[in-house]
Amino acid sequence: MSSHSPIVVPEGFTLHKENSAYILLPSDNGAFLNTVQEFNRDLSIACIRAWSERNNRDKQAKFLQRQTQLDAKNATRKTKKRKTDGVLVHMDDESTGAQESVGVDPASLDKVKGPDTEYRTHKITILEPLSATGLRSIRYANEIPLVKHVIANDISLDAIAAMQRNVDINGLAPPGHSQSASEQPNPIKDPGDSAGPSAEPRKPTVTVNEGDATALMYSQRTAKTNVDVVDLDPYGTAAPFIDGAVQCVVDNGLLCITCTDLAVLAGNNYPEKCFANYGGMPLKAEYCHEAALRLVLHSVATAAARYGRSITPLLSLSIDFYVRIFVQVRAAPIEVKKLACNTAVYYVCTSCQAWHEQPLGKAIEKANESSGNVNRVYKTTVGPPTAQECEECASKYHVAGPMWSGPLHDREFVKEVLDLVNANPTSFGTTPRMQGMLTVASEELDVPFYFTPAKVAGFFQCNCPSLQDISSALLNAGHSVSRSHAAAGSIKTTASQRDIHDVFRSWIKLHPVKMSNIKEELQADFTRHPKTLTSSVKLVRYQQNPTPHWGPGTRAGGSKRKRSKEGKEESQE
Ligand SMILES: [Zn+2]
Repeated sequence: MSSHSPIVVPEGFTLHKENSAYILLPSDNGAFLNTVQEFNRDLSIACIRAWSERNNRDKQAKFLQRQTQLDAKNATRKTKKRKTDGVLVHMDDESTGAQESVGVDPASLDKVKGPDTEYRTHKITILEPLSATGLRSIRYANEIPLVKHVIANDISLDAIAAMQRNVDINGLAPPGHSQSASEQPNPIKDPGDSAGPSAEPRKPTVTVNEGDATALMYSQRTAKTNVDVVDLDPYGTAAPFIDGAVQCVVDNGLLCITCTDLAVLAGNNYPEKCFANYGGMPLKAEYCHEAALRLVLHSVATAAARYGRSITPLLSLSIDFYVRIFVQVRAAPIEVKKLACNTAVYYVCTSCQAWHEQPLGKAIEKANESSGNVNRVYKTTVGPPTAQECEECASKYHVAGPMWSGPLHDREFVKEVLDLVNANPTSFGTTPRMQGMLTVASEELDVPFYFTPAKVAGFFQCNCPSLQDISSALLNAGHSVSRSHAAAGSIKTTASQRDIHDVFRSWIKLHPVKMSNIKEELQADFTRHPKTLTSSVKLVRYQQNPTPHWGPGTRAGGSKRKRSKEGKEESQE
């Protein structure tokens, strides 16, 4: 892709290539390029690219709107001037547009309009505070057309040396920065700033910065130093970096966050650690991976709320051994007021997996009769929403959360990303899986959690009905169904747990196993519904069998050193 001179591979290193990027890794210690993470990088490129294009469209629309307003203002000013001069008398006439040019100096019009009479494409700055090898930053600079500048940061000197080498061999160092990164000012100055308004469009650059990730993010908090996108891709939890990230991203900016500590987020062995890191308790049920997403979103939403900022989840995915979320952060104190309404505690039956939602807040809208304005008043909610024992199986409920209870995705955005991938299938190494996962995500119902027929059949000790059987029965009863991207063979539905169990009780009547516990209920209709979920999987919707190096990486012997996802040893914490 780049036109720089051939790459010289230093002794002791091996050259690796992922898509557009070249990476040097030490040959001696068995370092490998984590190809499983290639999916994460591909997906991030598609999402940031789609977002940058949407962001640019929004900015252009606002610019044009401003121009129209200025034009209107100009027209009014001219009218006044002409009226006082006695030049024109029919300014309210329809034909004034044609007469506008009479005696008007175009230069004076420009002055009122300001120097920016033409929209300039908005190119973005991306900050990667935990960059390790720089691979992600290099790919962003190479593969996202609207990128101006990427800041790749790490605290480890070894990582800095590796990043600098890799940025150099990809020809992405800013002019005069290709050797050492030690003299970088802090906060980092955008190299594009020095370019005059008439300068040629610059090639994107990657600046390597050595420093503490949080200190760097705090130093980028002002309007002048804010970045358009922050990408947190740590080994383990992103929790310590979230407070800085929600502040250093620009208004309407994008935050991309990976957490790989699913043992904490989606397990039941470390609830105390989950609460410490994310401010909510994990849950024990087959839908724990969706709860993991909601816990991370809760943590980001509450951190942003402290600074009057509101989040909109654009895409939230549970993938292999990690979660990955893309959220837009907006300075919107009025939206922040709604946060408690988008936050809930859940009561989860650990036996049959039934659950009940307890929202933390509610909004009451009152229309002012004289002004017509709607006032919104926020209140606490009453609860609990259920008895102490499960109505389905009489087991005890466990408390989970608080966690984000709002939508996980912005469906329009997911479709934009999917369109982008479909239009550029050769741009990514993992296109089929991206298409599969984005398709499922774009179709997901906006309701919490999911179930798999296998799990419920296990609870009833009956034969497992197919996905088509169960989804048809739910559809025939008037409920909506979709898959969840988070588990193969899963169903999200608007039906209650009681409704789902009724379907299974009907199933058992038709496919008797043990009749002793079966209640008399309405007979569900298993006739194939036209919208039934099919199990013939044409798309790669879910992960395939684990490939080599599958997993979050392993600690390298004894010390505090860890193996990063890109395969390089690094020290963190
Ligand atoms: Zn139960």
